Amino acid sequence: MECIFCKIATKKIASKIVFEDDEYIAFNDIKPQAPVHVIIIPKKHIDSLNYIEKEDNALIGGLLNIAKKIAYDQGVSETGYRTVINCNKDAGQEVFHIHLHLIGGRKMSWPPG
Ligand code: AMP
Ligand code: ZN
Repeated sequence: MECIFCKIATKKIASKIVFEDDEYIAFNDIKPQAPVHVIIIPKKHIDSLNYIEKEDNALIGGLLNIAKKIAYDQGVSETGYRTVINCNKDAGQEVFHIHLHLIGGRKMSWPPG
């Protein structure tokens, strides 16, 4: 069975898409934590960071390149932004299809809560 992000990738669930190509799709987070909050996923289903393989290196690296492009497009390149991959319970991972959060448009604190 397809997970919720696979369903977004195959358009069975609607989302506000901000970028798409053959390998990736990026869409606005349904519960944004900042003025810019985009979820970037590979269309290939990988449960979490725990399951990436060496053969996925280019695919996973590509998430950052897309984040860079969307950050520019949405005007936060200069003001700043954060990229996050949550893995498992302590990090609060809710959706088990690997994804990169791109968050920006407001000042953020460190360390994260
Ligand atoms: P994580 O906690 O890292 O697994 O993040 C999952 C993120 O996906 C959360 O920020 C949710 O708000 C977001 N999310 C869940 N369902 C949807 C959806 N249908 N469309 C857009 N974002 C979603
Ligand atoms: Zn999936």
